[in-house]
Amino acid sequence: MEFPDRFDVIVIGGGHAGTEAALAAARMGSRTLLLTHNIETLGQMSCNPAIGGIGKSHLVKEIDALGGAMAQATDRAGIQFRVLNSRKGPAVRATRAQADRVLYKAAIREVLENQPNLTIFQQAADDLIVEGDQVCGVVTQTGIRFTAANVVLTTGTFLGGVIHMGLKNHAGGRAGDPPAIALAQRLRELPFNVGRLKTGTPPRIDSRSVDFSVMQEQWGDDPTPVMSFMGSRDQHPQQVCCYVTRTTEETHDIIRSGFDRSPMFAGDIEGVGPRYCPSIEDKVNRFADKDSHQIFVEPEGLTVNELYPNGISTSLPFDIQLKAVRSIPGFENAHITRPGYAIEYDYLNPQDLRHTLETKFIGGLYFAGQINGTTGYEEAGAQGLLAGINAALRAQEKDAWYPRRDEAYLGVLVDDLITMGTSEPYRMFTSRAEYRLILREDNADLRLTETGHRLGLVDETRWQRFNAKREAIAVERQRLDRTHVHPNTPEAERANQYLNKPLQKEHTLADLLRRPEIVYSHIADISGEQANEIVAGQVEIEVKYEGYISRQEAEIDRLRRNENLPLPVDLDYDAVGGLSNEIKQKLKDVRPETVAQASRIQGVTPAAISQLLVHLKKRD
Ligand code: FAD
Repeated sequence: MEFPDRFDVIVIGGGHAGTEAALAAARMGSRTLLLTHNIETLGQMSCNPAIGGIGKSHLVKEIDALGGAMAQATDRAGIQFRVLNSRKGPAVRATRAQADRVLYKAAIREVLENQPNLTIFQQAADDLIVEGDQVCGVVTQTGIRFTAANVVLTTGTFLGGVIHMGLKNHAGGRAGDPPAIALAQRLRELPFNVGRLKTGTPPRIDSRSVDFSVMQEQWGDDPTPVMSFMGSRDQHPQQVCCYVTRTTEETHDIIRSGFDRSPMFAGDIEGVGPRYCPSIEDKVNRFADKDSHQIFVEPEGLTVNELYPNGISTSLPFDIQLKAVRSIPGFENAHITRPGYAIEYDYLNPQDLRHTLETKFIGGLYFAGQINGTTGYEEAGAQGLLAGINAALRAQEKDAWYPRRDEAYLGVLVDDLITMGTSEPYRMFTSRAEYRLILREDNADLRLTETGHRLGLVDETRWQRFNAKREAIAVERQRLDRTHVHPNTPEAERANQYLNKPLQKEHTLADLLRRPEIVYSHIADISGEQANEIVAGQVEIEVKYEGYISRQEAEIDRLRRNENLPLPVDLDYDAVGGLSNEIKQKLKDVRPETVAQASRIQGVTPAAISQLLVHLKKRD
């Protein structure tokens, strides 16, 4: 049957990528259909109900700056908030929230249900309608045909999903959900490079069977941080405590006794797992000298008893899981509510994509989320947003948009994926970004909200609040630059309390703030005037890191200016310092004509381009 209504954009999959994609396209005015297996699982967190963390909160705040839903849902669902790396520099500071999974799903569902231009339909998509090299629509499991010239595929771990526990396995998209088999087959018929990856999850535990008295308590931060630029602490539900315990030598012996029935070690799983989130059997095997591993015991919500023991993801057989869990301090009488498992699934090599996440082979077809080889809700949501934006722009015959590496972590994420591909689940880290000091989580709105407004993603309330904040920052910055403190005045006396050496000559407040011993609250005291917490934080970072920030900006300018710089055909790449042998070989094979061309060679990193520029300069 042909569905009577036409759509501009169809999004397949209602996970983290799919929901952001559908919301973005609809916000931009495109008639959008979100087609998903099950409306009840919209916004479901397949693994740990936690949002943010190092590198990841940068993506969440960028999604938020572009009007997306993830950060606001987190503020409504977060039951513990912390700022990680708070003692380190602002570039690597990151907000992490433990969420109530029920509240999170409800918050996402509410946003979706109230989004104009968005239609939701529950059904599996089994086939894509492709004519020539263009996508034209989708066919569901029961044969309903939906037409649209733009389709965003966000099927997560569901394509050809196989769930493993011990030597037993069965088809599934995640525990309790069906896999997408027909669609996976269809994609293998199309000219895409398909591979297999795997991920895993720990057993969940009933909190009533746990002895918390032997565990270390871990409370959230006070005052409680917020995730969204529009968020406030009043939105947060009740805040709760998390706990820390550890595996024991006995746990490791039990785990080793199950190695012969581990699907990973028996070779039943061919897909590569996330390097930075290994299973407990992997950790015990690889780090045999360690006699204990930390476990963060995190509540899954306020109205459920389930706990997420973060650090013991496993696909060992259930009898081993149970024994191992019960050998951990505090878990001696633990009741497992859901066994841990691993899942293997198809992913598509992201090198088959453009920066817009549109596929190179089929016009109008976009891939976003775990399907592109990434792991994590944040990475998925960010890609979904970008694909949704570009699907809508294409539907409206407008120019595509994507951020550069120096504009957003989203730019880094997509550029990494499409230029280098990935052979293991890709997660974001701050170390992946060259311009960390510019791409901070605190300034994601200053970097992106204006673009979001231009694209039609940002509503009027957010736009006005953003402009007021931007203006307040400029005013406060000007005050610090223009207010002078003269020696032997009451202001100088107040300043001397904080300074290592008393003030000898006139200084501006900005000069004083640059001193390592001075923080913004001292400036407020010295001058008797104080900006609000957000403005003060922003101005403090701007002033204190001004030197580093302007150096990074100069570097970005230099790279951009040099993009068309010719590279001599006879350049001796072996003589270029700091390049890996692999990169040297690639450059020798291709012999690019310009720096821009060199930077597009798969595997040639921006750091390598910097080295190349230094070498060219020395050579001249
Ligand atoms: P998903 O959230 O998987 O959503 C996919 C959506 O598409 C679902 O709603 C599904 O029903 C729908 N769908 C699929 N196929 C079809 C179809 N044919 N028709 C209609 N609808 C369809 N991340 C981490 O960062 N760390 C971890 O340790 C971690 N462990 C994980 C363990 C497990 C067992 C699983 C399943 C996931 C784990 N994740 C982990 C990954 C995290 O859940 C994903 O990165 C994130 O959910 C990906 O979002 P997504 O939107 O791409 O896909």
